[in-house]
Amino acid sequence: LNVFGHIKLAPPDPILGTAEAFKKDTHADKVNLGVGAYRTDEAKPYIFKAVKEAEKRILADPTLNKEYLPMRGLDSFNSLARELLLGKGCAAIAENRVATIQCISGTGSLRVGAEFLKVNVNPPAVYVSSPTWGNHLTIFKKAGCIVREYPYWKPETRGIDIEGMLNTLSSAPIGAVILLHVCAHNPTGVDPTPQQWDQIQNVITQKRLIPYFDSAYQGFASGDLERDAYVVRKFVNEGSQCLVSQSFAKNMGLYGERIGALHIICRNKVTAEHVLSQAEIVVRQMYSNPPLHGALIASVILADPALTQSWKVELKAISERIIQMRVRLLEELIKLKVPGDWTHITSQIGMFSYTGLTSQQCENMINKWHCYMLKNGRISMSGINTKNVAYVARAIKHSVD
Ligand code: PLP
Repeated sequence: LNVFGHIKLAPPDPILGTAEAFKKDTHADKVNLGVGAYRTDEAKPYIFKAVKEAEKRILADPTLNKEYLPMRGLDSFNSLARELLLGKGCAAIAENRVATIQCISGTGSLRVGAEFLKVNVNPPAVYVSSPTWGNHLTIFKKAGCIVREYPYWKPETRGIDIEGMLNTLSSAPIGAVILLHVCAHNPTGVDPTPQQWDQIQNVITQKRLIPYFDSAYQGFASGDLERDAYVVRKFVNEGSQCLVSQSFAKNMGLYGERIGALHIICRNKVTAEHVLSQAEIVVRQMYSNPPLHGALIASVILADPALTQSWKVELKAISERIIQMRVRLLEELIKLKVPGDWTHITSQIGMFSYTGLTSQQCENMINKWHCYMLKNGRISMSGINTKNVAYVARAIKHSVD
């Protein structure tokens, strides 16, 4: 008897599958435009100098050991991460009404947040943007939530469908959770303007909806940690009770260390204590407690002003390289007279650009040009560098013509 013989091969993950296909390709000019991690101009992974320095200090510290962390994680990390997100002088922090729990990067934080909501709040629905990062839908479904979508992307303008979004949010049931990308929306690279955030906030407040912010790219989008946290701080400082999933994968380059946090901003201190205790139960039953190493790295960096400063300088350089590649790609497309308006390449922000290429054009990019990208037209700007930008532009021209 083949006990597991009935199990079918799972379909490849659209993002991780692209990485696999890229790896197998032996073509000399192949380009990885699917990668969700930063690459240098030499197409190499990057370790922050601040991270290396923090690791050196951790290794040299005789007081550290490998004991279990508590369910909520490393306290020093939790308070430093919270301050980085919400800002120094945040009233909610001073009033001890933010429940923070260290999580297994952004994905783990979303999973704990989803389970916490299902068990303790049971919202009528969770609304995610259309489109969104694919895992959003599956994470909330897995937790037993009903997932719905709100319009976000308008193909005609290659911008935000703000009317559609506001209309859908206006008709959402009271208590529905609204998942919002803090900055560098994935996959579109299009963020609401401050005026649009005002409109979104008005509907959320009026309709008594629960905002849930996903912060995967703080500092990575604009190079400025304060600027990229604008919308979370606005909501929290104006009295919002909300959740935030925070990842350090991109902004500290700690992808594989799986370090992040879940913050739940509550009405008062007692509520925050109750909320934290329930979030800890979720963790206890899922994986007991989080890993130590990434939390130590992040807290060593954030606790030392000089190290924090050097990290910020590196972060700025990284985001600037990406912004520069947007400019270069646009220049090349214009030079080649590729039909259509491509200015969205430079107006979009963050790791990704939503090119607007059709799935057939994407297939051409992959099969004829060895430029690996998602079939929805998303390209990772970090896969582009000074050596391959002209080649990528030629591939786009050929695919569009
Ligand atoms: N949320 C968004 C929008 C993302 O793009 C990502 C990563 O690509 C994540 C969350 C989670 O990333 P991680 O689990 O590596 O922190």
